[in-house]
Amino acid sequence: MRPTGRLHLGHLVGALRNWTALQEQYDCFYFVADWHALTSDYANTAPITGYALDNVADWIAAGVDPERSTIFVQSLVPEHAELFLLLSMVVPIPWLERVPTYKEQQEQLTEKDLSTIGFLGYPLLQTADVAIYDGRFVPVGDDQVPHLELSREVVRRFNQHYGDVLVEPQPLLTPVSRLPGLDNRKMSKSYGNTIDLSDDSDAVVRKVRQMYTDPKRVRADIPGTVEGNPVFMYHDAFNPDTAEVEDLKTRYREGKVGDVEVKTKLAKAMNTMLDPMRERRREVAEQPERIREIVIEGSKKAREVAQATMERVRDAVKLRY
Ligand code: AMP
Repeated sequence: MRPTGRLHLGHLVGALRNWTALQEQYDCFYFVADWHALTSDYANTAPITGYALDNVADWIAAGVDPERSTIFVQSLVPEHAELFLLLSMVVPIPWLERVPTYKEQQEQLTEKDLSTIGFLGYPLLQTADVAIYDGRFVPVGDDQVPHLELSREVVRRFNQHYGDVLVEPQPLLTPVSRLPGLDNRKMSKSYGNTIDLSDDSDAVVRKVRQMYTDPKRVRADIPGTVEGNPVFMYHDAFNPDTAEVEDLKTRYREGKVGDVEVKTKLAKAMNTMLDPMRERRREVAEQPERIREIVIEGSKKAREVAQATMERVRDAVKLRY
């Protein structure tokens, strides 16, 4: 995850819940992609380390367990850069120019000059990030599948030159759709429509009250639409009381419930869900050095694995003195 801001509910449903579950089955490596943050934010690097530690506090609060998973920071394992460099020797530039997000982001983020080698090479650095741990599976949303397909091609090309040295990674699709934000666009920091994992209960109540709902329903006695309505998508994602949710949906469709009741019950369910995370986050925040220790320890562990891979890679490339 890139440390470019505070984490929000989109990160919880789109990544962290899955990360937590995967720990049961896999030997997981989760990292703060601080070099990837530089690919777009190279002009303003000061907040990156603060976001990095803040994000890791959220991961741990959400259930990512540093005893079971390796939690680390990319730039503390400089071998990622070495593998990236070696990969860059064999990868034709057009492969990178063809990645759909490359042109899209350049067009969207017009306030930034993204005509850099770092930005073009982003998917190659991602390939190194995974291959350096012999990563077999990468938990991603469907938007990341083209990047992973490229990673597989890059690994194949590298192996063609140097023998069977790197492992081809497979996508492990995260089984959730995109969480909408308060305004029904995708929840994203850049749209200012987020509920953050660090928001207190009053902020959640206030934000839920502002949420976009069925615009045709100007009065509580007009039948409303539940499908595609973000308030009900949130009820489905965050309210474990399915009987209450079904009752609200039925009455909403019939025009027998006001938005205030629907939203009040949603905010209450969300705060109940967030409270244990807030509590864990508070415990973590009481020992600010603890998070730093976790990422330093995790990065040491990650580095041992990365160094072993690079020994193999240097042999394969015949750079041995
Ligand atoms: P970002 O901070 O936008 O780079 O997102 C990091 C990861 O969090 C993404 O790859 C998704 O897995 C997840 N994510 C972010 N926003 C959302 C959202 N609104 N809905 C679902 N998943 C999200």
